[in-house]
Amino acid sequence: MPHPKEDKTVLIIKPDGVKRGLIGEIISRIEKRGLKIIALEMFMATKEHIDEHYPKSEEWMKKIGEKTLKNYNDYGYDVKKELGTDDLLEIGKLVRGWLIDYMTSGPMVKMVVKGIHAIEMVRKIVGPTLPSQAEMGTIRGDFSVDDSTAANRDKRAIRNLVHASGNQEEADHELLFWFAPEEITDYKRAEDDIMF
Ligand code: GDP
Ligand code: MG
Repeated sequence: MPHPKEDKTVLIIKPDGVKRGLIGEIISRIEKRGLKIIALEMFMATKEHIDEHYPKSEEWMKKIGEKTLKNYNDYGYDVKKELGTDDLLEIGKLVRGWLIDYMTSGPMVKMVVKGIHAIEMVRKIVGPTLPSQAEMGTIRGDFSVDDSTAANRDKRAIRNLVHASGNQEEADHELLFWFAPEEITDYKRAEDDIMF
């Protein structure tokens, strides 16, 4: 097993994060925690990029469907009436389509973050998918308010500021997909000797 401090993950500031001027705030939170940015770029994604970025597995789409269904049940909304289906896979497919529109609606900022348990750490700093349920102190909890009941009604993806790799498999895929090996650097930060 590699040393835990070698762990890497991908974080992307979505178009709403860029347009709201939150690039600095988001990067600052990652850096202050003691995680290291080892690649960074602003770019404009194509529809094909986003289609390749997100998993295509039924399992992933069903998981999105499950999150939606739970959210609808929590608030007493009728998912079938609103979306025309309560099938997990169909809901996942709908959301996947809206995501492509969202992630190509403006420039984004992509970065590779390195550090101890980087994948889990960054997810913690970002907070859960639904901003309405994200705790204060997380990026999504402090700066966003959206919810699937609202986003689905308007036929758009939930605006939650950032994407962060959800697990090792996603991190491996996204690292290779978004960055050429020569774009990923490394350096020693002053804190390295003090913090770990
Ligand atoms: P993440 O890993 O926390 O970003 O969440 P997922 O991988 O489950 O979903 C990917 C993205 O799809 C989310 O960040 C949201 O922008 C969007 N999304 C997820 N679930 C829903 C949903 O139920 N409705 C809508 N409209 N968008 C969703
Ligand atoms: Mg995800």
